[in-house]
Amino acid sequence: MKIGVLALQGDFAEHIVMLKRLKVETSEVRMPEHLGGLDALIIPGGESTTIGKLAADFGLTDPLRQFGQRHAIWGTCAGAIFLSRDARRHQPLLSLMDITVQRNAFGRQVDSFEADLDVPELKRVTGTKEPYHAVFIRAPIIESVSGEARVLASTADKRIVAAQQGHLLATSFHPELTSDTRFHEYFLSMAD
Ligand code: GLN
Repeated sequence: MKIGVLALQGDFAEHIVMLKRLKVETSEVRMPEHLGGLDALIIPGGESTTIGKLAADFGLTDPLRQFGQRHAIWGTCAGAIFLSRDARRHQPLLSLMDITVQRNAFGRQVDSFEADLDVPELKRVTGTKEPYHAVFIRAPIIESVSGEARVLASTADKRIVAAQQGHLLATSFHPELTSDTRFHEYFLSMAD
């Protein structure tokens, strides 16, 4: 299995470190031809407007949409925004997932915070019992899911922070900034 990481902007290097820890072959994606031969793709956190603009500049928008028709894609934070159909403002989006997101939704006082999440599906797939300790940095919330999309995790105050739609995964938080590899393992199980 070979997993690409969109390397236009943001914390793609941290995702590559996680994938290497899991002994998975990875490569950086900057051009449409880099998608060839990949089984799945991760879109990292960063700045969703910048990622969207650079993807358009590099001719990647349509190739990414086509890739997502048949292959697994996971967006973390800015990547989740880019995957969404609606970010409640005008910005370039892949519009692959039937989710509406609200950017920077946790407010200035708590721009960054950490929280333990109960993610039943993650525990089931990885055979573990521990809650998932999630890192949020100027994170979006997933306001709503529709169509085939379903909620994977919410905060204690019921804000949706992870969703899945078939082989597409969106998380508001940053598993690549922790030492817990379970979300990457979960994504690999989706890509298989
Ligand atoms: N606030 C950023 C955005 O709206 C996302 C932040 C992140 O990826 N950590 O794109």
